[in-house]
Amino acid sequence: MSATHRKTLPLHDAAVAVARVLLDAGYESYFAGGCVRDRLLGGVPDDYDIATAARPDDVRRLFPKAQGVGESFGVMLVRHGGHEFEIATFRNDGEYADGRRPNDVRFSDAREDAFRRDFTINGLFEEPSTGRVVDFVDGQSDLTNRVIRAIGNPNDRFAEDHLRLLRGVRFAARFGFALETATAAAMREHAGKLAVIARERIGGEVRRMLEHPTRVAAVQLLEEQGLDAPTLREPARVSPSLARLVRLEGAVAGDLSDVGLLDRTVPVAAALAAWALDRHGPNVGESVIHGWREALLLSNRESVETLATLAALARVRHWSELRESARKRWAASPMASWAQTLFAVESPCGADNLVRWRRQTDPATIAPPPLLTGDHLIRAGFAPGPQFRELLDAAYDAQLEGRVGNAADALELVRSSAGGPSESTANPRPDPSQG
Ligand code: ATP
Ligand code: MG
Repeated sequence: MSATHRKTLPLHDAAVAVARVLLDAGYESYFAGGCVRDRLLGGVPDDYDIATAARPDDVRRLFPKAQGVGESFGVMLVRHGGHEFEIATFRNDGEYADGRRPNDVRFSDAREDAFRRDFTINGLFEEPSTGRVVDFVDGQSDLTNRVIRAIGNPNDRFAEDHLRLLRGVRFAARFGFALETATAAAMREHAGKLAVIARERIGGEVRRMLEHPTRVAAVQLLEEQGLDAPTLREPARVSPSLARLVRLEGAVAGDLSDVGLLDRTVPVAAALAAWALDRHGPNVGESVIHGWREALLLSNRESVETLATLAALARVRHWSELRESARKRWAASPMASWAQTLFAVESPCGADNLVRWRRQTDPATIAPPPLLTGDHLIRAGFAPGPQFRELLDAAYDAQLEGRVGNAADALELVRSSAGGPSESTANPRPDPSQG
């Protein structure tokens, strides 16, 4: 394999080649879990996990560069053809003491490895070279019937590992599958136990739900299953509307007039803002987002952007009162397009005015480079200080409103409004930009 090691191969070919090495050495090996599920659903897997009878030491012998990524669980990372593969020894996860991690794992066989997995649709194996499916858990019929069903007794499985509560919701939403009755009942029963799961892992699941176009279904299920309160660490939801999340979904699906303004993917922050508005109403406070930042361990960027979306929404509600300069500043502010999408839910008319203004406004005039800078002021004899910002803001507003068209006019405007040094008292150095 070393000769081809650096070449880039199609993902599936590379995965088959890695599995071949294991199989040729006599170890039963399969593609496992998500990649089998995704292929059977007609998708193209974006990563392949390999389950094998080979132990980590055997894997290392066959792939000298293999890295242990969870060696106590028997998981090794192998690179081939420009891709990474997790090779995991068949195992049985043994007892769970804390609802998070098994106390110990025992290497075992393919059948037990299938039964340790969470949901039947995730418990499938595939023979790498033939594509034949090996199904110990009746996963194929659940795939056909579009059902998320815990493997084994759902109460036991959610009691073992509470993160599965969120995984179940995420997979149901992503594929548009129903939660099987007993699985759904067990979820509701165990919902409160989410509290012991690391906030980082909870946030990771929520992020994946909100990033996916099926975010509305995910949020609906989370709330139906009583998982919203422990996930967000706030009271369960009372109001039934998901209007803003729906609007985001529509905007991205392309059925809205303002779609031209939007990226095709929704940033997590926009989805969080929409969800917060749906849950807490139009005047959702910053404290809610601060709470969510802790509950979901949001990144700094995510929480800053969420707050920016809400701030841009609060501002755009006063659209008709905003001067032209304020409108342009708003349009150039972070997350404004997303705030506009959310605004359309509460004020379709207001949003229409905004869209019309956007169409009529030359994009190049929304955030042009400032004509007047601090350097100009210094050269004009102004002493640097806190009033600089105000003067420059006034000049920039005038520029945005078309009241000044060059640096000299902008400077004159500043002079007259600030009562600063006039042409005669100041001692301006020559300005190279002023031909
Ligand atoms: P995705 O496309 O979201 O990555 P996936 O099925 O590949 O879906 P992973 O989190 O990558 O999900 O996990 C790979 C496989 O490991 C799953 O298909 C499942 O069989 C098993 N698995 C993962 N997490 C758990 C868990 N908490 N409990 C039991 N089995 C799990
Ligand atoms: Mg995966």
